[in-house]
Amino acid sequence: MADIESVLTIENLNISFSVFAGEVKAVRGVSFQLGKGETLAIVGESGSGKSVTARSIMGLLPNNAKITNGSILFKGEDLVQKSEKEMQKIRGEKISMIFQDPMTSLDPTMTIGNQVAESLRLHKKISRREALTKALELLELVGIPEAEKRMKYFPHQFSGGQRQRVVIAIALICSPEIVIADEPTTALDVTVQAQILELLKGIQNKLATSFLFITHNLGVVANIADRIAVIYAGRIVEIGTVEEVLFNPQHPYTWGLLSSMPIQNTNEKRIFAIPGTPPDTLSLPPGDAFYPRNKYAMKIDARQMPPLFRVSPTHMAATWLLAPGAPEVTPPAEVIRRRELFKERAAQAHASNTS
Ligand code: ADP
Ligand code: MG
Repeated sequence: MADIESVLTIENLNISFSVFAGEVKAVRGVSFQLGKGETLAIVGESGSGKSVTARSIMGLLPNNAKITNGSILFKGEDLVQKSEKEMQKIRGEKISMIFQDPMTSLDPTMTIGNQVAESLRLHKKISRREALTKALELLELVGIPEAEKRMKYFPHQFSGGQRQRVVIAIALICSPEIVIADEPTTALDVTVQAQILELLKGIQNKLATSFLFITHNLGVVANIADRIAVIYAGRIVEIGTVEEVLFNPQHPYTWGLLSSMPIQNTNEKRIFAIPGTPPDTLSLPPGDAFYPRNKYAMKIDARQMPPLFRVSPTHMAATWLLAPGAPEVTPPAEVIRRRELFKERAAQAHASNTS
């Protein structure tokens, strides 16, 4: 990562909502970088602050939300300081977003061809004809069959999966530098989900676009992401390469997420779920927000928020278990299995490097 040019650098981002009952601290000190051509997955349960983070990058926060601290540097410029007018130039053209529900992202009264072409004409001075040609090219890229004919169709004449393909075409048509996909497959059924993930993967390989891939499902990121950030109650609790987070996880919350997705067929029939629910963001506990659900918690977790401890140059996790002198704990069996695989692969890589 360190040697890849960063297109997006988020530093200590804090976002709050004012609501009748008080202040909802939705994002609390989030920092990460997105490299050129890289895909970073942001993973966490519902309500953990994924969409709020995504919307802040797009300058699309609701009126009752406020960035109380931090910066969002896009190629060196702080988007937090930009006016709405300046953001309109960036949105769609430099940074675009794919939302969860394809139906609400499309205009039901406009043909698909015109919609894709319009989003290009909004940012680039080109003729309608040229825009339609480019729209056709994009619809073919995203795998719409008989694209030329179907450009004249309306959204309701497309299936859910095809509508999401159209939304992806719209997100890509201006050749943005960053695409933010916020749960792009969550509203689709499982087989269509797989097809859309396959499509996004193909696009990543073809284009040099950077992707921020947001999902509540750690199971879908292994094939698509380069790095993973795990977010809990508005904080990044673990961040690392896909290999590090999936096979050498350090945070008990990541352990919980991984225990619900076994890598090997085991005889354990029980589907694991992390007991309890995420905290109320209106009244967060003083220490680690995961403390009440963490069976590995220590006394300090109740009192003090753990900082991000460094595991490797690319891997960090916010758990007191990594503090010097912390007790050794035995992670869940699934995590032990994963760590063994991690060690084996590291040994193999070492052997092939030195032979
Ligand atoms: P998710 O990770 O599921 O995308 P969100 O980013 O949408 O979560 O929400 C993060 C937190 O911000 C949640 O606690 C949610 O209740 C709160 N939140 C989101 N939108 C609003 C809003 N418009 N007003 C008040 N609180 C909000
Ligand atoms: Mg969301």
